[in-house]
Amino acid sequence: MTLDEQERQLDRAARIVHESRHVVALVGAGISVESGIPPFRGPGGLWTKHGEPAMDGYQRFLADPRGWWADRLARQSEYSEFAKALAEARPNAAHYAMAEMERMGALQHIITQNIDNLHQEAGSVAIIEIHGNRLKLRCIGCGARWPLGELPTDEVPPRCPDCGGMVKSDTVMFGEPIPLDALESCQTQARLCDCMLLVGTSAVVYPAAEFPVIARRRGARLIEINPNETPLTDLCDAVLRGPAGETLPKLVERLKALTALRAEPQDEALES
Ligand code: NAD
Ligand code: ZN
Repeated sequence: MTLDEQERQLDRAARIVHESRHVVALVGAGISVESGIPPFRGPGGLWTKHGEPAMDGYQRFLADPRGWWADRLARQSEYSEFAKALAEARPNAAHYAMAEMERMGALQHIITQNIDNLHQEAGSVAIIEIHGNRLKLRCIGCGARWPLGELPTDEVPPRCPDCGGMVKSDTVMFGEPIPLDALESCQTQARLCDCMLLVGTSAVVYPAAEFPVIARRRGARLIEINPNETPLTDLCDAVLRGPAGETLPKLVERLKALTALRAEPQDEALES
């Protein structure tokens, strides 16, 4: 993409967001790459390097929850590289830009597939986490959640004080159903929005893959923010080709310029 074309796409994206009433961002692992957290797929991805892990993590948890907890408490994760990156990561310019968009009233909701808590750390508030949050625990019986460390783990698996159900990490395991509350909120947001930002996600995996499709069927415009082409690129009304940490702050600057422009003619109208 030429520089001129990139500028045109930025202008177009800013105009679309500015004109929209309800903007939702669908976010994937790509937004946190600049925070040092590797994605799973694609260049530099953990699966690209180490191969795909077993896809039955949840079934193995259910078969031996005590063993799973013992392993977790001993920190013998097969993803120690991933766990270390998560522990050290701080929000990057893209997370901060999204928090600023929310404060400006230009972003109503974030649907994230990430578990890294970086949107919260950057100051975003309206967030749905489809795959859970690494800093929380969840009851598989009633869906209640707690911050890590709030439930005693001297006996494992911990039991839910409300329903007696088994407690696991909030992070959704391979093979585990997406928590219903999160799924329903996402579907509501996908129906409500008139613009969806696709930030750092290839959106090929269910359920994330269906949200842009639901949104677009109802007339929402799609904007892709990703250095690489994705299967959704052709459906997008604007495409910001580049790392999210570079393009999202530029989008915020354009939005501010548009907001200022809108304010000016009104002043003139009052004077004349
Ligand atoms: P994915 O399939 O959505 O792929 C990542 C996307 O990010 C790719 O399209 C890639 O082109 C794009 N990308 C790379 N660098 C980028 C940048 N600087 N800015 C913007 N986009 C960039 O996601 P995945 O890696 O296959 O992960 C699958 C799932 O695993 C995630 O949805 C998530 O649940 C989990 N995961 C979470 C984290 C996290 O919490 N940070 C990290 C890895 C994986
Ligand atoms: Zn419970």
